Amino acid sequence: MLKIAEKKTLGSVKRFGPRYGGTVKEKLYKVEKQSRATYKCPYCHKEKVRKQSLGIWSCKKCGAKFTGKAYSVPKKTVIKEENIEEEIVEVKEKDKKEEKEEKGVKYSEKK
Ligand SMILES: [Zn+2]
Repeated sequence: MLKIAEKKTLGSVKRFGPRYGGTVKEKLYKVEKQSRATYKCPYCHKEKVRKQSLGIWSCKKCGAKFTGKAYSVPKKTVIKEENIEEEIVEVKEKDKKEEKEEKGVKYSEKK
């Protein structure tokens, strides 16, 4: 029976010794394990993201700093840089069209 009790000790929560009760410590262990793990970087795709502060994560490989969950990085943290660029291009094209229209109006006024 003693051996079973020994197996149940949970790494990071060992520091509390026999205090605070097993259920609470088990929950804390799960959270601490999540928050201390390394995650995949959404920018450079390397497993180098570590928790910097509550909800703030930073990549040790490329230095990216971003927000995630308080104790973990959601799996679908995808940065869509390509889409943003496309949107910018679309906006520029729209501006050009509007400029042309404005010019057309001005020309017609002059005539
Ligand atoms: Zn990175």
